[in-house]
Amino acid sequence: MRPPTGRSPRRLMTSPEPAQDQTPARLAADTDVLVVGAGITGIYQLFRALEAGFSAQLLEAGHGVGGTWYWNRYPGARFDSESYTYGYLFSKELFEEWEWQEHFAQQPEIERYLNHVVDRFDLRRHMRCGARVTSATYAESSGRWAVETSEGTEYRARFLVAATGILSVPYFPDLPGRQSFRGESYHTGMWPETPVDFVGKRVAVIGTGSSGVQVIPAIAGEVASLTVYQRTANWCTPLNNRAITPEEQAQLRAGFETMCETLNTSPSGFLHPVCDRQAFDDSIAERLAFFEAMWDSPGFSKLTSNYTDLTANHAANALWCEFIAEKIRSIVRNPETAERLIPKDHLYAEKRPPFVTGYYEVYNSPNVSLVDLKQTPIVRVTEHGIETTDGARDFDIIVWGTGFDFGTGALSRMGIRGRRGLALEDHWADGPKTFLGVQSAGFPNFFFPGGPHAAAGNNPRYNGDQVDFITGTLVSLRDRGYDTIEVDPADEERWTSMVDTGAAASPFGESSYFFGSNIPGKPRRYLLNSGGRPKLFKEIRKVVDNDYEAFRLSRSSDPAEATA
Ligand code: NAP
Repeated sequence: MRPPTGRSPRRLMTSPEPAQDQTPARLAADTDVLVVGAGITGIYQLFRALEAGFSAQLLEAGHGVGGTWYWNRYPGARFDSESYTYGYLFSKELFEEWEWQEHFAQQPEIERYLNHVVDRFDLRRHMRCGARVTSATYAESSGRWAVETSEGTEYRARFLVAATGILSVPYFPDLPGRQSFRGESYHTGMWPETPVDFVGKRVAVIGTGSSGVQVIPAIAGEVASLTVYQRTANWCTPLNNRAITPEEQAQLRAGFETMCETLNTSPSGFLHPVCDRQAFDDSIAERLAFFEAMWDSPGFSKLTSNYTDLTANHAANALWCEFIAEKIRSIVRNPETAERLIPKDHLYAEKRPPFVTGYYEVYNSPNVSLVDLKQTPIVRVTEHGIETTDGARDFDIIVWGTGFDFGTGALSRMGIRGRRGLALEDHWADGPKTFLGVQSAGFPNFFFPGGPHAAAGNNPRYNGDQVDFITGTLVSLRDRGYDTIEVDPADEERWTSMVDTGAAASPFGESSYFFGSNIPGKPRRYLLNSGGRPKLFKEIRKVVDNDYEAFRLSRSSDPAEATA
């Protein structure tokens, strides 16, 4: 440790800018810890903070809990990580009493689960929903954060934890005429609570990422017509979901400890067994049989249990891609449509691979058509529909599956102001600068688990590591009489350089949103951490073993801290 230095109806997320209202905010609460976001990470952080004996409050912009699993309630939305590996593991009782219905749960079940957790651990009375944070300012004189909300309330806290998610700010492309469309318009990431009636409607879906390819087969059967606007084809493979049998439920309960150990030591946070071979170790026949087994395997195991050189060896990856391409050709009856659905510009996992249920089959339906935007780009959205270079089509509903401002989107829009009014969005103007993906220099007592630079893989597992680290840190501060913690700029620089340098080892290509490339004008910087969970864990252990050497710890009563 360095010595103290002395220093309702749904509201839509269209205007997340700091509030302009000058009316003084009403002080609603003053706590040790203020958590922002009632997603999986925020709920866990609230639980841990209360369990550790801190006073804590949580603010959530949505009108219910769930975060991603509140906002993304579009038809077909579901986990593509196994339900029991994505849920909480901190309580064996919770694990035993909640029986997931399917290996990959649907959004309604996930939302029910998160509400159950909130009630089960009596967290709801510490939560305020419908309160969007509009600004958060660090007061150097008191060493506390003042947080204002869209409700006109102010919350004060010693520690501010933004668990605002990496995929929480929906992105709409800036297409001419987008606002002029007179029909219904929905983004998958801000879906209304009232179910959308698709029956007999002419529907357009723009975007074929993980969200688009989930919603498309879910609505194809009820719409009059479905037109899919695809810019980049994706390597989709079957999710292979099914109900969890009573025998499997019993096995899950009996194997809880073993499962936790596997998940807690797995670099990716999944249970999938790792392959012991490279692609060219097998004969052609063996490889084909292996790829068939992969195709039939659940979810992400196509990535985590595939040949060990799949993403590092282009030749190996190309073989897997050719296998998938043949599958697409065998499923989609129209050869031209099949060819349009086969990616030609990237290998498997250069973009985050989606996992699907009945996706390619949908294109055999007479009411479904595919528009290839590489051949015929969108010219404009009209009052009645969408016009491409090939002509205009009219629609009743447009579904925007056009993604998110990944990693930094929410944090950069919250009006975070650190020392001397430093704006987080300015500090991150060239890309995020973090240490462990939890803190930034110049922002004392501010943490952002589940933000950029953390790891990669099954999110709740490594975001949970960050929450445990933050909570342990707060306890350690309290035990030793400190109340202010701020990462050293040198350590922020070290972690950020590690992330930047490691980007070359990432399977994801620079054209993926993991580099910010889907948002016009966003700096092209890697937003995950190629070192993954092992690197994060190793560094956390080092920090704790070295008595928080990477941080400056102080007391707000120290004169130099108060005037810094
Ligand atoms: P996404 O992967 O970023 O996909 C956005 C889609 O919109 C892409 O097909 C993109 O095309 C297209 N697009 C963007 N701008 C466009 C424009 N101007 N014109 C036409 N098309 C445009 O977003 P997402 O599908 O919402 O998924 C984001 C992430 O959320 C996933 O990768 C995953 O991590 C998570 N997610 C998870 C699940 C799950 O199963 N658990 C489900 C949904 C989402 P280009 O590729 O050409 O840019």
